[in-house]
Amino acid sequence: MHQFLPAMNARLLLKGGAGLLTMGGFGAYTYTKYQKGSLSPTVATMEPAQTPKLQTTTTTTPTQEANRIAVGRLLRRKTNNPHLESFSACRPLIICGPSGVGKSSLIKKLVAEYPHDFGFSVSHTTRGPRTGEEDGVDYHFTTTEDMLDMIKDGKFIEHAHVHNRIYGTSVKAVTDVTHQRQICILDIDVQGVQTVMESTAHVELNPKYLFIRPVSVDVLEQRLISRATDSLSAINQRVATASFELEVAAKLPFDEVIVNDKLDQAYHDLKQFIDGQRLKCKQCRDEAELNKKLGKNIKRMKTKKRTGSV
Ligand code: ADP
Ligand code: 5GP
Repeated sequence: MHQFLPAMNARLLLKGGAGLLTMGGFGAYTYTKYQKGSLSPTVATMEPAQTPKLQTTTTTTPTQEANRIAVGRLLRRKTNNPHLESFSACRPLIICGPSGVGKSSLIKKLVAEYPHDFGFSVSHTTRGPRTGEEDGVDYHFTTTEDMLDMIKDGKFIEHAHVHNRIYGTSVKAVTDVTHQRQICILDIDVQGVQTVMESTAHVELNPKYLFIRPVSVDVLEQRLISRATDSLSAINQRVATASFELEVAAKLPFDEVIVNDKLDQAYHDLKQFIDGQRLKCKQCRDEAELNKKLGKNIKRMKTKKRTGSV
């Protein structure tokens, strides 16, 4: 698909920073750009092999604007809540990468090894569940109608059309995790990342951004085939989208890029990245330190009891 999006056009579009790139089916992309200090966006629609033409519009965004404001208000209400005065959330980790690159494998390993430290933001999607996927655990599987209603009501921090389906992160999905004082892991596509980077959520959530790369698109295709969860046409669509996603991602300011060649190495790299980021809030760090000290004291007391020393 990336032949429809020449590298130069992508650079042109992303250079300005603030904006949202959405895919309108194969070959046509819409880019909504918010000028600094203005709430009126300009929209550029790109047709295959066309240079984008910017045009002013007043019609596309009342809903988007309402959502942006509502999400900001919701997030602020959480952090301004007097009952949560001393609450400062751990920084979320946003993990992005093309479908089949191994995001779920890495996230599942992390949450399994550190169940108290990490929690997964359960997205909404209008795609159907795959074998083995559980509603409310892997995704909130929903209808397009309900999803659109929720979007209208400002329930989402971000949402995007991916592979002809809608995916989105609700405010609740994130706060459910952060209010447990866990590091919230979000698995979202490049469009979602761009929305977060350009919205109040970037400031409110203060997340870190990680991109997972495949060794090559061919390897990615092989993984999707061996995962055997998607039809051949769905795999083709995911592979085609991957090229576009890799191009867009290369221009976004991710904090780290990890190549998932060998899973163990990628997992090691992921943990190393997390270690260096200080994602835990001060309260959680203090608590961990206290527990460590308590643990040491209890150990010392047990040893004393066993050896009879005073
Ligand atoms: P994503 O969540 O990014 O769509 P998955 O975690 O589902 O990707 O991984 C896609 C497939 O590739 C799965 O079958 C998974 O077991 C496999 N896989 C993940 N990482 C590796 C790796 N490093 N080497 C080989 N296979 C992998
Ligand atoms: P899959 O259908 O393979 O589970 O996911 C397809 C793509 O949708 C992946 O790139 C994944 O990161 C992305 N995705 C999953 N949840 C969300 C979400 O809440 N928001 C956005 N923008 N993308 C999502």
